[in-house]
Amino acid sequence: MMNPFLINEPTCISFSGGRTSAYMLWKVLQENNGLPDQAIVCFANTGKEEEATLEFVRDCSSNWNVKIHWLEYQWDEDTKKRWRLVDFETASRNGEPFAAAIKSRRYLPNPVTRFCTSLLKIRPFAQYLKTLGDDWQQMVGIRADEHRRVVKIRNRPDEEGFSRIMPLADAGVTKEMVGEFWRNQSFDLGLPNMNGVTMHGNCDLCYLKGGHQIVSLIQEKPSRAIWWAEMEEMVSLLVDKPSGAVFRSDRPSYASMIEFNKDQMNMFDPDENGISCFCGD
Ligand code: SF4
Repeated sequence: MMNPFLINEPTCISFSGGRTSAYMLWKVLQENNGLPDQAIVCFANTGKEEEATLEFVRDCSSNWNVKIHWLEYQWDEDTKKRWRLVDFETASRNGEPFAAAIKSRRYLPNPVTRFCTSLLKIRPFAQYLKTLGDDWQQMVGIRADEHRRVVKIRNRPDEEGFSRIMPLADAGVTKEMVGEFWRNQSFDLGLPNMNGVTMHGNCDLCYLKGGHQIVSLIQEKPSRAIWWAEMEEMVSLLVDKPSGAVFRSDRPSYASMIEFNKDQMNMFDPDENGISCFCGD
């Protein structure tokens, strides 16, 4: 079998800011003796990532001497441009790109219409790459043990004009292997690794995370919930249908969760699993 990490056509390495996609980047650098000219590395900041994630993206770049393009969603009415380039210093930290995406849609993303991954990550990548030329493939950090995601992408490899490749899945890389790799590095993501899952990863209170997980993240740091509650309130003033103003119709609002947290109440089944999203690890 061909080495899945070898790059010989224009390739965007999609870096989510998690351990898995960072490991994928490291493998690419090892197997190609550095970053090939035909490859670029992109990270999309939603503004709702933990600070530790932003530090980790910066640290991968400096420790491995590789340029990472930081992108954020924006909507420029005049130029119709949906992205802007930022860096560690200038990256949004209070959900500004995410709030702009919600304003443009006038309803909240939810488990059925998960427009945030596409609007905040996939489309900014696609539009940005177009400015650099055509026919990019996208390398995504999906591991071999993420069976459902692997099958979904194999069945539908094209998205937003990209063909997606999954070298980690092709090479049989599992979460245990990724964990082992990071235990032996001189730096790491400053977020806990719980059996290969980074509960704090991606957007801090992503509505696809399990309810119990969200409550424990609010208990750990109540201010995390404020932005989510503000979004619910903002959209409730914009929409006619109340269903458009909640991230989950099967759960209490984030504002209620703030209140429940004050009363220390248990609302969710501790064994509930989150829904897998494509924002990646
Ligand atoms: S992490 Fe969750 S909330 Fe954030 S962009 Fe991905 S799906 Fe949306």
